[in-house]
Order: sequence, then C-alpha cells, then structure tokens
Amino acid sequence: MTTPFKITPAAPAAIPWRSAPEDRAGAVLTVDLKALVENWRILRARAKPGCDVGAVVKADGYGLGAEQVGRALAGAGCQTFYVAHLDGAAALRRAVGPGPRIACLNGPNRGTERDFVAHRIMPVLSTPEHVKAWCAFALTEEVLLESIVQIDTGMNRLGLSPNEFAALMDDADGFLGLHPQMLMSHLACADTPDHPMNREQLTRFIPALSRFRARFPDAKGSLANSGGMLLGHEWQFDYGRPGIALYGSHPQPGHSRNPMLPVAYLKARIIQVRRVDTPGHVGYGAAAKVGEGAKLATVSMGYADGFLRTLSNVGTGYLDGIPVPVTGRVSMDLITFDVSNVPDSAAQPGGFIDILGANLTVDDVAAKAGTIGYEILTALGRRFHRRYLPASG
Ligand SMILES: *Cc1c(COP(=O)(O)O)cnc(C)c1O
Repeated sequence: MTTPFKITPAAPAAIPWRSAPEDRAGAVLTVDLKALVENWRILRARAKPGCDVGAVVKADGYGLGAEQVGRALAGAGCQTFYVAHLDGAAALRRAVGPGPRIACLNGPNRGTERDFVAHRIMPVLSTPEHVKAWCAFALTEEVLLESIVQIDTGMNRLGLSPNEFAALMDDADGFLGLHPQMLMSHLACADTPDHPMNREQLTRFIPALSRFRARFPDAKGSLANSGGMLLGHEWQFDYGRPGIALYGSHPQPGHSRNPMLPVAYLKARIIQVRRVDTPGHVGYGAAAKVGEGAKLATVSMGYADGFLRTLSNVGTGYLDGIPVPVTGRVSMDLITFDVSNVPDSAAQPGGFIDILGANLTVDDVAAKAGTIGYEILTALGRRFHRRYLPASG
C-alpha cells in the first residue's frame, strides 16, 4: 500500500518576511531611552555627593527590556545594576560588558554559586542559609567572595531579621570567607513621604550599618529605592537603588508633580471601525450598551498584552488627542473603544489608539485599573513591535 500523501516533507527553510514587523504587530511599544537616561540623571542630581545611583532592571527592566535599558544607562555612566534572578543577571552581563557591578537581589539558589562567579554577579545574601552556603563556597574556593548582605528593618519580606543579623555579628566566623561590599535594606513606605515607617527603618538601619562596618570597614550602605531617593540625603547612604522612577512612573504618586519623564509609549492598531446601525451591546457578557449612531473602534490588543481586564468599561485611550473610553469587556486580543467624538477622518482602520503616552501616563492607567504603575509596566506583553529611541544622537 502506498501512502496517499507525503507527511514528512523536508523542513522548510525559514520563509523570509515580505512585510515590516511593525506592520504585522497589533501594537507598537516605543521606549524612549533618552528620557530614561534623563530620569537617571534627575535622580543623580538629587543624590548626595558620592552616592552611587544605580538602576534596578529586574523583571526585564520593568517590562521595557533590561538589555536595552542596561546598555543605555551603562553608556551614560551607571555603574551598578540590580536584577532579581541569575539568568537575567547573566544576560545583563553580556549586554553591559565587564565594567558595571551587577547584583542579584533574590540571592543565590543552592548550587548556583559557580555561575555567580563565572558571570561576576554579586549575590544578595538575605537569609542565614544564604550566608552559610556562600561562606562554605568561599572556603572551598579559598578566596574572599564579594557579596551584599541584606537585613530586614521592618518590612518582614526578605533579609536577615534583627536577631539573625545579631547572631551572625556575634559569631566571629559568621561571615568567614566573605568580603561584603554592601549592607542593604529595603523601605516599605517610601512612596509615602510622611509615613512614619521611613524614619523607623532609617533608625534601625544606621546602627546595623555601624556594627557591620566595625567588622568590614569598607562596606557601603544602601537603603533607598526610587521613593527613598526623593526622601532626601539621609536615606541615600552610598548606593541608591531606583527602579520605577527611571521608567517614568511617579515614585511618590499624588505627593507632588511627577519629576520623571515618560519613557513608554504604546499604541494599538485599529482593525475595524463601525457606526452602530442597530442599538445593542458590546463585547463578552454584553457588558456595555450602545445606541444607534455610536461609533466604535476595535484594536488589535487585549489582556494577553497586559491591558488589564479590570479596565473593562473604565479604561481610556486617546485617538488624535481625543480621549476615547473602553466600552465593554477587554478580550484576550481585542479591545473596543467608543470613538463617537472623533472625526471620521481620524478614526480609520489602520490607525492607532494611544494606550500609554504623554497624556496617558503609566500612573493614570494604573489608577484606573486599581493597581500601581509597576504592574502596568511589568504586565506589558511580548507581542508588541518594540522600538527603542536611542539614548544619544
Ligand atoms: C524593586 C526593588 C528596588 C527598586 O524599587 P523602586 O520602587 O522600583 O524604585 C530597590 N530595591 C529592592 C530590594 C527592590 O526589590
């Protein structure tokens, strides 16, 4: 018997695209690396002299691309980067070259020590187990290993507790084999400048740092995230660890005008525009009503791209500078906007609705979605066409 058709043709060679990626994508994300670098400079201008203002680029640079962000900032002179995981740290090391320090905030998982050394990543040691394992590794290597020690000053999230830190400091061999560069802690409420926790945590950090320096005289201190950098010089110590501010979100929302420049611009492609000829409903669950004559535009983006479903019936876009409300539920790959107020000349298939931009900031969208700018940025999807505006030139 013969097979009626061939089921195993040779694997086809990659078929070359005949269209531009931008034309195939449902949405275009533009990352303004010049604004990002400017934000870093704004923070540096507010930092006390000698404070090393680094950059937190965890979660793929808050969703905007850790490698591009890292290269832009390293090019501008940023010397210290903070990532959450070793894989991201190693990728960043390839992107920024051998110069900058790279710290891995979530510490060394058991068995990964050799990779930390190979990629020259500084682990943040946050538990007695981390310290013990890194000491044991140092002793087998017979070298003094660089590291950062993290203590908890009131957040109860990650870091040695006061008693754990005291026990290690009381033990003359507690850090045997280590050459810690930094003692760090993290602020719980730096986004709220008048919160009493800010000073409480500072008051706990200062004596711990003195004690640490009695053992390691050249160890540096680090306490401030973006909000902490704005609290003032007292909180800044030697290393600043801003993240969100670099990406344009307000580090202390609602407390002053946002000093940061927008970095992320997102626009979604209009697939269809309809003039409703029969009154009815929009989208899943028929959760919005439309009357005759309303004009709707559906774009090629949805919650699978990070446009949170909680924005159903409450989010806004901008079309030709005019605000257009989300109508009905956000679908996986589609969102419908009411564009009745926009002239037909602007509301056309192939056009774009602005989702994030100068008049629709990450913080505006977050407020509407009932979340924070961090979640909006880190939820940004992987399907967008991404454009990077160069840092210089
Ligand atoms: C995320 C993080 C930062 C940066 O915080 P932002 O609020 O984004 O500036 C700094 N330090 C640690 C330990 C973090 O986890």
